[in-house]
Amino acid sequence: MNISQRVLCVEPSPPRAIFDLAAKYTDVVDLTLGDPDLPPPVNVREAACKAIMEGKTRYSANAGLIDLRKAIAEDLKRNSGMVIDPASEVIVTVGAMEASFLTLYSILEPGDEVVIHAPFWINYSQVVRSLGATPVFVYTRPEDNFELQVEDLEKVITPQTRLVVLNYPNNPSGAILPEESVEKIAKLAVEKDFLVLSDEIYESLTYDRKPCRSIRSYPGMAERTIIINGMSKRFAMTGWRLGWAIAPAELISEMTKMQENIVACAPLPAQYAGIEALRDDSGSAAIRDEFRTRRDVIFEGINRIPKLKCMPVPATFYALVDVSATGLTGKEFAFKLLETEKVAVVHGSAYGGDHYSKFIRIAFTMKEERLREALRRIEKFVLELK
Ligand code: PLP
Repeated sequence: MNISQRVLCVEPSPPRAIFDLAAKYTDVVDLTLGDPDLPPPVNVREAACKAIMEGKTRYSANAGLIDLRKAIAEDLKRNSGMVIDPASEVIVTVGAMEASFLTLYSILEPGDEVVIHAPFWINYSQVVRSLGATPVFVYTRPEDNFELQVEDLEKVITPQTRLVVLNYPNNPSGAILPEESVEKIAKLAVEKDFLVLSDEIYESLTYDRKPCRSIRSYPGMAERTIIINGMSKRFAMTGWRLGWAIAPAELISEMTKMQENIVACAPLPAQYAGIEALRDDSGSAAIRDEFRTRRDVIFEGINRIPKLKCMPVPATFYALVDVSATGLTGKEFAFKLLETEKVAVVHGSAYGGDHYSKFIRIAFTMKEERLREALRRIEKFVLELK
């Protein structure tokens, strides 16, 4: 069968590949995917059940229930002071994944350049390539805490730069971008006339300090920013597939038109659950506290193991661990660890190639007890390395 080049150029996802391989073993501690083991808050689950029992199970408007869009706008105002029009500046999507896909699909032309800072969440480069545009990478450094350096960004901006993807708090590094850098990037965006896709999905999972202000809040940025966010991480609702994009009305209306041709709308019971989640979001604080505890367990536990160094994790539920002192690359480490001790982690090179080959990524999405078991096994693995 003739498969399109658009699809053939997309590489299979390495984290998924390790996740699938791990499923072939028994008693694996799986720390691959960013998929928390926690249930969503009770009020959210109840709202979904109620919607189902009341028969609220049909299609909604392509852009999502207006009450959900209003709840998203109110949540944004409460948390960041930004004011948007819920009727025209937000679209509800099937997860943040669809929000980012729809954004890229709606704005990119073949030949456009899209700047992505590495290490990165893999989907962005895949979709950009698939659309015939060119991903241009800026490699952030561990010695800069994986914070994007504005001078590095400036160097890769060309007249073809259509969009810069900003993902802070960042998957996979857990980094947060300092306020001054965000401000400088905003100025550069206005000066050089590029759009910014700001993926803020880990915004609620910050531990030691507040996340920086959204780049959309800087002068001249409301008209050139697309904010991507969703329920998956903040409310542990990965399987519910509920996300959104906030963007200028002229883009949202085109994305809404395309939505009809892709999924029509996000699942309706999940949308009702989303309204409740944002109405009473107290459950998300408990989720954040749980991840802070797990972060401490992983950070201290890894740094106690000889030859391993866990990078600081101010946000998200991912930790990058430098394994170079073991003499193994991250990839060798990940595969041998799975084979011998049945702990599944992802090699850093999956998130930006050779620049990150000395790292593994641990997603601390499992209960503390399983994390401690993983730490025991990782320590045994390291100590037994020849
Ligand atoms: N953006 C980033 C940076 C992510 O890490 C993920 C999921 O891991 C997503 C978006 C997708 O989230 P969702 O489950 O809402 O599609």
